[in-house]
Amino acid sequence: MDLEEKKQLYNAVLNNISDELIIFEKNGALIKFNEKTRTNEIDNYDNVYTLIEEIEIYDKNGKIISNENKIFNRVLKGERVINETYGIKSKDGYLRKEASGIPIYGIDGKVTAGVVIYRDTSKKIIFEEMLSKKSEDETLNKIVENLDLCFVRFAYPGYEVVELNNKALNLLYQINGNMADYLSLDKLSIYNFTSSKDLVKLIEKSFDEKESYQDIYKFVISGQEVYYKFLYQPLYGINKTINEVISIGLDVTKDTKSQIKMKKALKIQDEIYANVSHELKTPLSVIFSANQMMDMYIKSSNIKNNSKLIEYNNIIKQNCYRLTKLINSIVDIAKKNSNNFSLNIRNENIIAIVENIVRSVTEYVKLRQLRIVFSSDINEKIIACDSMQIERIMLNLISNALKFSDTNSEIFVNIECKDNRVVISVKDQGAGIEPEHLKHIFQRYYQVDKSLNRNAEGSGIGLSLTKLLVELHGGTIYAISKVDVGSTFIVELPDKKINDSKDKKLIKNENNKIEMIKIEFSDIYDI
Ligand code: ADP
Repeated sequence: MDLEEKKQLYNAVLNNISDELIIFEKNGALIKFNEKTRTNEIDNYDNVYTLIEEIEIYDKNGKIISNENKIFNRVLKGERVINETYGIKSKDGYLRKEASGIPIYGIDGKVTAGVVIYRDTSKKIIFEEMLSKKSEDETLNKIVENLDLCFVRFAYPGYEVVELNNKALNLLYQINGNMADYLSLDKLSIYNFTSSKDLVKLIEKSFDEKESYQDIYKFVISGQEVYYKFLYQPLYGINKTINEVISIGLDVTKDTKSQIKMKKALKIQDEIYANVSHELKTPLSVIFSANQMMDMYIKSSNIKNNSKLIEYNNIIKQNCYRLTKLINSIVDIAKKNSNNFSLNIRNENIIAIVENIVRSVTEYVKLRQLRIVFSSDINEKIIACDSMQIERIMLNLISNALKFSDTNSEIFVNIECKDNRVVISVKDQGAGIEPEHLKHIFQRYYQVDKSLNRNAEGSGIGLSLTKLLVELHGGTIYAISKVDVGSTFIVELPDKKINDSKDKKLIKNENNKIEMIKIEFSDIYDI
């Protein structure tokens, strides 16, 4: 091989290697030695010092490297660098490179130039990341596979099964028994888990409201009832459309069975209470009649100045009212739970019902040195409701507002129409309710202060009955409250009417209303 041939071979080798070879001199001259170097940003530079100034380089942890510590400067100072990893910001994004550098010495023993070799390792890193991701996926799959939860991936929108884990497959087998049907996934869909045709509709409805859907299903396996809670979660693609739906099923047999037992026990308890309460009505009305006889006797005889007798007789009366309230509530709750509570629904002016009840209690409220204010943006709104039960709802909320307010504060009753609802609010400036209690106050027998020396009397049953009455009207009730600022109870009733033919006549009895107020306010002693 002659010299020319050798030179050509040498150039061919240099130009075909994928590494970038840069030679630079101490005076700054920069020689891009091979083809690869001339295809990237280094090609824009002829001076190594400008290159050092302008190109941003990062170490392998992503920290920016100072100019002084850049490889060119280190090599020019005589350092030999071997295979260090760098990050370089380029027009194609962030590139990973591996670099080595060797100083070249002149005859005086001083560094006169340097050689730096760059290797682009971005692809290698992506590949390594892919490998590690693959092993991550495999680990994740193994976890999912052996999970004690059912895991199913459904295609969207057909809800065909794409993938399911052992636990889910076992459940299917146990429900249906014929394993051969499940050997091929493409035969399976969501309907193998449930026979309900509405399930997909319900799931879609929650997804529309941007929520996941969950439900509990009962299966019979080897004659035993088992319960699974299934959660359906949509997975969205880049364009925010649903790609697929994953479902996770949890065996909740133990919890559900104990809840069912608890419900049964509560139902039996309700029935016992209701029966006992019913039995108490007769002796109670006898005591109440005797009490009224005593009243008449005191008024008509010469003992009417005996204040102690009057006081004791009043205590008996008030406690008769309290017992009546408790008995009525217990009996009504039991009636509602056995679907025997029927409302006397008529088309009535809800504004007038609420305003009248507020007017009727104004005097009682004054006795407590409080003020009640009624406001409404309209005079008339006819809706289908049971006026007597609406009065009970209002009396319960107002009596609570009274019980938990200090003297000289105000109670605001407001009624307004919003969209297709009538919204009634009872707002007080009283003690307020702490958040951890607020979520439980509509539960039966729940009282914030259960101590016997609490400030206010009560049985913890009023709000749960109020809630039942509101729900019987197709409405909702909730409360907002802040400790030491006050509470607002909000009742929302549907704005709808009934067919006139169903509209029964109502005989109004003002005496009934006074009795009702006395009963509903009986927990407040000084009225
Ligand atoms: P009770 O008959 O004991 O008043 P309720 O069911 O009516 O029972 O109310 C449950 C609990 O909610 C009460 O014990 C009380 O602690 C709290 N509560 C109800 N209304 C109010 C209110 N307006 N302000 C503060 N606390 C209230």
